[in-house]
Amino acid sequence: MTSEIHNDALVNIPKTNKKQIVIIGGGFGGLQLTRHLSSLDANVILVDKANYHTFQPLLYQVATAGLEPDSIAYPFREIFQKQSNFIFRMAEVKAIDTAQNKIETLIGDITYDYLVLAAGSTSNYFGMKDFEQYCHPMKSIPEAGELRNLILENLEKALLVTDLTERHRLMNIVIIGGGPTGVEMAGALGELKNHILPRDYPELDFKSMRIHLVDMSERLLGAMAVESSRSAEAFLKRFDINLWLKTRIVAYDGETLVLSNGEKLLTKAVIWAAGVKGVAMPGLKEDSLLAGGRFKVNVYNQVAGYENIFAIGDIAAMVTNETPKGHPMLAPVAIQQGKNLAKNIFNIIAKRPLQPFVYKDPGVMATLGRNHAVAELKFVKFQGFLAWLVWLFVHLMTLVGFRNRVIVFFNWAWSYFTYNRSLRLIIKPSQPTKAS
Ligand SMILES: Cc1cc2nc3c(=O)[nH]c(=O)nc-3n(C[C@H](O)[C@H](O)[C@H](O)COP(=O)(O)OP(=O)(O)OC[C@H]3O[C@@H](n4cnc5c(N)ncnc54)[C@H](O)[C@@H]3O)c2cc1C
Repeated sequence: MTSEIHNDALVNIPKTNKKQIVIIGGGFGGLQLTRHLSSLDANVILVDKANYHTFQPLLYQVATAGLEPDSIAYPFREIFQKQSNFIFRMAEVKAIDTAQNKIETLIGDITYDYLVLAAGSTSNYFGMKDFEQYCHPMKSIPEAGELRNLILENLEKALLVTDLTERHRLMNIVIIGGGPTGVEMAGALGELKNHILPRDYPELDFKSMRIHLVDMSERLLGAMAVESSRSAEAFLKRFDINLWLKTRIVAYDGETLVLSNGEKLLTKAVIWAAGVKGVAMPGLKEDSLLAGGRFKVNVYNQVAGYENIFAIGDIAAMVTNETPKGHPMLAPVAIQQGKNLAKNIFNIIAKRPLQPFVYKDPGVMATLGRNHAVAELKFVKFQGFLAWLVWLFVHLMTLVGFRNRVIVFFNWAWSYFTYNRSLRLIIKPSQPTKAS
């Protein structure tokens, strides 16, 4: 551990003899950690490739024109305006130099006394190159925006073609992965197809538009109870979503998706919700990395083989007897690990014993469209309207920023009563972008 005076000249971090805590990623985990270190006499340096925090659970609503991007994002500089030890640098981290205790970014190196990896996860295509090339992920606001553009642009193109096969190919959408993200996306698309798009595109026949949801396992929402899966399946079928369970994806060339049962789905829009892996952070020992690109951590979130490097949230796998595969990649895990690590950083600096992380599972939920969700809380499982109300309330209250809560609430109320989503805009950067 370094105790020398820091001067990260290139990134313009002032010279100081205070400890430097560098946090890579301001997602759910990084945000809580930074916040809970506010009274630490140290430099708390947050490095993120975006200048805002993203509320990922509502990305699918941006992709389906239910919410505008800025209502699920919040700028770090505003969140931490009043935190005097906070320093932010917008930069993509490329590698870690553990010998010299520094991270390498595109804007320069930053030294650390303690480093926290909180960079989350990225889409995992399990080595299937054609799917990586042609599928559309939904892990960030730009990706959700691109998906919205794709869906709407395909409909604009569908108006121009007379060949019916080609028209259907442009209208059809396939979602791969029947976990909460895939299921929520399917519900939202079903709602768009049934209630909204026919009004916008009266020249298109939406009865012939197909929305497919494909999953390898025998039921949707495999991590939830059977009754939640059954409820989700019944609800999506009412929306006319084609469910392909116990079905593998075999090939996709950007036009036709081949399934393991030989079925060929014609589509130019395939959404990837089938798997994620930890964001790559080159430079750490290979044996600290587990399958799925997650860093092996002990009960204090210390990365295996390092005393001053920690990992929290999706990028970390705390393998214990109770959690042989690590904790689920969920927001509450990241939030709770961020809070516990903050306490432990205080403990380390004060030379007190560390507190192990204990996960308090608040339960899981998934929404399927208006009036219907499935919820599994600690002592009770329920589905339907009440679950939907609980889902609305929890998501509203966890959004960062009062303004965002009001805007999201207003948008939801508006689309609930009017069956309308007013954000069906195709917005792209102008080409070519001006040099800055
Ligand atoms: C579409 C979707 C829906 C979801 N729905 C739910 C849900 O309903 N409930 C739930 O509990 N969980 C849900 N999740 C999962 C939840 O969002 C994650 O578990 C949670 O975000 C993990 O938090 P984190 O802090 O580990 O990382 P993240 O929140 O992913 O944050 C990582 C941060 O690191 C930054 N970053 C990444 N790479 C770099 C780099 N190289 N350099 C610098 N910065 C970097 C990113 O910009 C980002 O700000 C959903 C996820 C998705 C994608």
